Amino acid sequence: MSIVENLRRIQDRIANAAIAAGRQPGDVTLVAVSKTKPVAAVLEAMQAGQIVFGENRVQEAEGKFPALRATHRFDLHLIGGLQTNKARDAVRLADAIETLDRPRLADAIAAAIAKEGRQPKLSIEVNTGSEPQKSGISRDDADGFIDDCKSRFGSLLTGLMCVPPQGEDPRPHFDWLANRAAKHGLATLSMGMSADFEIAIAAGATWVRVGSAIFGSR
Ligand SMILES: *Cc1c(COP(=O)(O)O)cnc(C)c1O
Repeated sequence: MSIVENLRRIQDRIANAAIAAGRQPGDVTLVAVSKTKPVAAVLEAMQAGQIVFGENRVQEAEGKFPALRATHRFDLHLIGGLQTNKARDAVRLADAIETLDRPRLADAIAAAIAKEGRQPKLSIEVNTGSEPQKSGISRDDADGFIDDCKSRFGSLLTGLMCVPPQGEDPRPHFDWLANRAAKHGLATLSMGMSADFEIAIAAGATWVRVGSAIFGSR
């Protein structure tokens, strides 16, 4: 299957999952995760009409995307755990940073926004499975951090994001995140990957991050 065909099939599955959940297909945005894949693959997806892309690493994103700005219109989401010392590069590069997860990173992003004069959308990542190796704020600290970020970033803070533990039923994680977003009046809910995006859409996802089902295995 080509990238173009994969994109078409994923978009069909997204639309069907949305309709099955009583939602509008247009409520769900596909974030095409191009990490480890070459610029040629990104271009192929762009030529097929894909607009929103996701990358994990700032350095890799920097090598692939800025040169495309001159010729293509796209939104780049950063979806990997972010080091504080990369905040400025992230703000310069990204249209959305989905992994805001601690006060010091919020400080660094706020400073970077002031210096760079760019205002990427921000999502708070929650480590819903309390996995020590994963980024994301803990469930217990989420409410307080969300309130702090709302007062600090205002409408730049659009939503929440999570990556449930592998091999576990993701539903309770998706439901928990959807609940928190609703409670805080946050509109974007980034959850669901190649293996579980339909389940995430049933739970209310508005951004699904799909990599291998579009670009092939890594
Ligand atoms: C790699 C990655 C994805 C995409 O995963 P696939 O299983 O390839 O669809 C989504 N979200 C995050 C945070 C990732 O790191």
